[in-house]
Amino acid sequence: MIRVVTLEPFLPEDVGAVCSLLYQTYGLGTEPAGSLPLPEEAERKKPAGTYDAELLLLEAESVKLVADDKLLYLMKSKLYVPEGPLGSPPIHGHAQMGGQRAVVTTALFPKKLREGTEEFRMRLAKQAIREIGRTWDLRSCPEPKCAMHPPWAEGFETHTTPMLCNFCRERSEERIRLAAT
Ligand SMILES: [Zn+2]
Repeated sequence: MIRVVTLEPFLPEDVGAVCSLLYQTYGLGTEPAGSLPLPEEAERKKPAGTYDAELLLLEAESVKLVADDKLLYLMKSKLYVPEGPLGSPPIHGHAQMGGQRAVVTTALFPKKLREGTEEFRMRLAKQAIREIGRTWDLRSCPEPKCAMHPPWAEGFETHTTPMLCNFCRERSEERIRLAAT
């Protein structure tokens, strides 16, 4: 089961659409699980209103989960991750690799993507598919149409349909089967 929790206000219709696109992608029950506050412990002093992604996943309150459940947080404030070998790419989300929790933010979505529209839902779902994929250890994918393609690569924004390529889909199915046994 994938449980989707909002940390800032979202339209219920948008959350519902993301849930149904996650269900279509992974074949796992996905449902909205309410709202929780942003964890103050994860807010950075500079710049204020930015949240440390790793800390947020550790500190945010949880809903009741069983062993192979996944928890996806949706938020709108900016996320921060320490600079890596590739510098600091724009952060649209973060996940516990092979773990249970992931977060997606709309902070860096283009301004023209308005809430309540199909385009907004598809973009949010695509990012959600990517971050949830990482909780099953899916890695970055070279296929530009695939949701596991890096979001800062050109193909990610041009291919708007939220989907996995066959390779990533098969890999996710394998991981989900393993988790269930
Ligand atoms: Zn792929």
